[in-house]
Amino acid sequence: MTETTEPHTLAEPHTLAEPHTLAEPHTLAEHHTQSFPQAARGALADTQLRRNLGHATHTIRAKRAAAVAEMGDWEELREAGRAIKERTLRHLDQYLVALELSVTRAGGTVHWARDGEECNRIVADLVAAHGVDQVVKAKSLTTEETRLNDALAARGIQALETDLAQLIIQLAEEEPSHILVPAIHKNRAEIRELFLRTLPEAPADLSDDPHALAEVARRHLRERFLSARVGISGANFAVAETGTIAVVESEGNARMCTTLPEVLITVMGIEKVIPTWQDLEVYLQVLPRSSTAERMNPYTSLWTGVRPGDGPQEFHLVLIDNGRTSVLADEIGRQALACIRCSACLNVCPVYERTGGHAYGSTYPGPIGAILTPMLVGVKNAPSLPYASSLCGACYEVCPVKINIPEVLVHLRGQVVSGQDSVKPEAVVMNLAARMFGSRLLYEFAQRLGRLAQRPFARGGLIRLRLPGPLSGWTDARDLPALPPESFREWWRGRDRE
Ligand code: SF4
Repeated sequence: MTETTEPHTLAEPHTLAEPHTLAEPHTLAEHHTQSFPQAARGALADTQLRRNLGHATHTIRAKRAAAVAEMGDWEELREAGRAIKERTLRHLDQYLVALELSVTRAGGTVHWARDGEECNRIVADLVAAHGVDQVVKAKSLTTEETRLNDALAARGIQALETDLAQLIIQLAEEEPSHILVPAIHKNRAEIRELFLRTLPEAPADLSDDPHALAEVARRHLRERFLSARVGISGANFAVAETGTIAVVESEGNARMCTTLPEVLITVMGIEKVIPTWQDLEVYLQVLPRSSTAERMNPYTSLWTGVRPGDGPQEFHLVLIDNGRTSVLADEIGRQALACIRCSACLNVCPVYERTGGHAYGSTYPGPIGAILTPMLVGVKNAPSLPYASSLCGACYEVCPVKINIPEVLVHLRGQVVSGQDSVKPEAVVMNLAARMFGSRLLYEFAQRLGRLAQRPFARGGLIRLRLPGPLSGWTDARDLPALPPESFREWWRGRDRE
């Protein structure tokens, strides 16, 4: 689900969107060099992609709403989810130390990684120490964030993704485009063609029937599951008081990754810790309904250290910072660390629905990506992302842990603007507007002036004007409503005289 799950199976039509997809796979280089508007342009021109995304997001949105409506105490659960995370983040240092003690007591080993590079090195060293050149991997956003697969490949170790959609993305050498449904942009005909090209198990007469495609992937993975000596997973939650790791998913692949190999390595962001076992109760209710619109997850795997003769005999937990403590230092932005990666905010976002996930150039797309990524990598390295939103607030309304995404977006936009060296035309215009709105006389004078100035451009109640140069950003995609012949105040004053 969040870290490990692909929620929908091939049987679900909206996972394998009807026809067509993004025109071209997006490379990592593109991700780092393109701003959001540049990257979004290509996606917006792909009408089929927009249809696919619109269909998929509307479907899951309606299902989620129905699943949530069943809960009489949904708002109380949301508030509990928010409060637990807030308290945990306030004492994060203590809970992390408690988690380390609990995991160690249960026979596991805890490693601390300052950044992605250190995390990848720790994992690669652990794998290499066991003399294996292939590992099985459950879906993990955190290891996407650190580019673990690339780092392992550089050490001659192949990481095999076992979540179906993640496997599709890996075989296609593309980037995930959704937190929960990484291959949301691909259709079943393309997946059939991909399997025929890359999987030796695919028969020549393979159809694009979802069950047939899933069966090929299953046969491909089965052997590897049984022979893998090292498994790698993410974590949805880690309980500080017991050292228990929780992973929720829909396919069962994560359970196989975390139980069959002799060695299990779990990579987890430091913000995933929760204080007590009882706290898990809240998240196991809000997460499935918000993400897959299910009452509970088909698979919930929980393990505490190691147990002789049962499951992996060696367990390593890698706790990674990678910018999270900087986010924690930001009083407004730190609420983003409460995210449980349900993806509900993506599915309701009008911007994501039209651009898809690749345009964000980030492991975390959609509204949560628009706030989390700039804070993790530094606002100056992703200055366009806080603007990838209409600020409609739909993300805040659905978030099961009440992250006020619009508030953080505005806060980050402020940081972007104050970090700019030159004065932008937009800032000048806003300053003038502030003065005008601050004075009734100036405001009414501007209204009269505006009525005169709009005459050559106003048609059918709209001002159809295209401003030149840097001001064009305001008019390229907007038609302003024309000023009415009379303002309300003018009408009111005239009424007094009648
Ligand atoms: S920000 Fe909220 S709605 Fe969006 S993925 Fe995170 S928990 Fe879910």
